[in-house]
Amino acid sequence: MMSGRINHAVMRDRNRALVLEVIRRDGPVGRAQVARATDLGKPAVSAIVDDLLRGGRVREAGRGTTGVDGGRPSVLLEFEPTSEAYLAAQIGVHTTTVVVADGAGAIRATRSAASIRGDGAAGTALLGALADGVLADAGTPRHVVRSAGLALPGLINRRTGMLDVAPNLGWHAVEIERAAADALGVPVTVHNITQAAAFAESRFGAAAGTDSFVWVYAGSGIGAAIVMEGELLLGARGLAGEIGHCRVVEDGPACGCGGVGCLETVASGLAVERAGRAAATGRRRSALRGRDGVTTNDVLEAAAAGDVVSAGILREAGSRLGRGISYLIRITDPDLVVVGGPLAEAGELLLDPIRRALRLDLSGTDPVPVVGSAVGDHAPLTGALLLAMDAGGAPLPARIGPPLVAAG
Ligand SMILES: [Zn+2]
Repeated sequence: MMSGRINHAVMRDRNRALVLEVIRRDGPVGRAQVARATDLGKPAVSAIVDDLLRGGRVREAGRGTTGVDGGRPSVLLEFEPTSEAYLAAQIGVHTTTVVVADGAGAIRATRSAASIRGDGAAGTALLGALADGVLADAGTPRHVVRSAGLALPGLINRRTGMLDVAPNLGWHAVEIERAAADALGVPVTVHNITQAAAFAESRFGAAAGTDSFVWVYAGSGIGAAIVMEGELLLGARGLAGEIGHCRVVEDGPACGCGGVGCLETVASGLAVERAGRAAATGRRRSALRGRDGVTTNDVLEAAAAGDVVSAGILREAGSRLGRGISYLIRITDPDLVVVGGPLAEAGELLLDPIRRALRLDLSGTDPVPVVGSAVGDHAPLTGALLLAMDAGGAPLPARIGPPLVAAG
């Protein structure tokens, strides 16, 4: 009767998971309420609850009000969040950060170290040392870690689990999924920072409550992530949304990808910096004029202080970016466009020309709202944590806290 035994075990596991799920969702709850919600008999629920209490998966949380039968108020039960844990990591251009969170999404410890540029194997192995550190800091035993999420700035091929290239880290052809799982000791979901940030935005940020939106990253590169009906749209290889390398200018500037006239060459922070440096040596009156080594940040600051030339540079970038976004809108038909990344810190100076470009390029259609990101610098790490919890079967928390330490 082999199959009978297996069925019995499967059934027992399923009932146990069901009881835990109800306590987690509805807790603090009494046993009778759990029995009603699960359709399991009271004795069965009681046996499972005793087992969950012994295993530390749930805890007692005081007594409820007196029951209708006038009997003793029942002992209430709630999920024990420290009985499971999730690791999240962000490998930034400058800093690598690892956090450990409990089963309710509360951050228990954070550690950071300088990212290792030019060496993907060593840079990924660094995650292991940081994870050992946060687990020790938090007093979290390794066996309760269920899964991990990793966000990094590169092209990750989901079909092969390879990081094909992370240009700003100088990493090439890293078996990122396997290497990260080796370092962290649990399965790891790996996403690029734009995808991870979009996932965070969909839970806590400007896109909370919006099913279908595009999230555009405007920094030294240009990228986008697409969320359709609440799901990240990754594409066959995980490269969906890479609009930065769409050709938008015939005979335009050469791009780092080997192409010519890519959106990234005319609308990114690099394009803003190039225009800022031209303004520094140009004839027009500008706060930038005569300055050495003008950066994107200098242009943003000058524009915010009212410099007309700098505002014009951002307007130009915004209107080019708007053209790129118009293609995304035509293809994906979203409810909302969210713009994040360093350039988005220009606020309306960037968003307004994007909207104007969209009105021109999408004439005859209802305008799609364009807003700035509301999740900030921590978005990729927050997204990595949420993706880890999602992969580990945990319900996603209503908030993440305390605030995460940014990875640059
Ligand atoms: Zn390109």
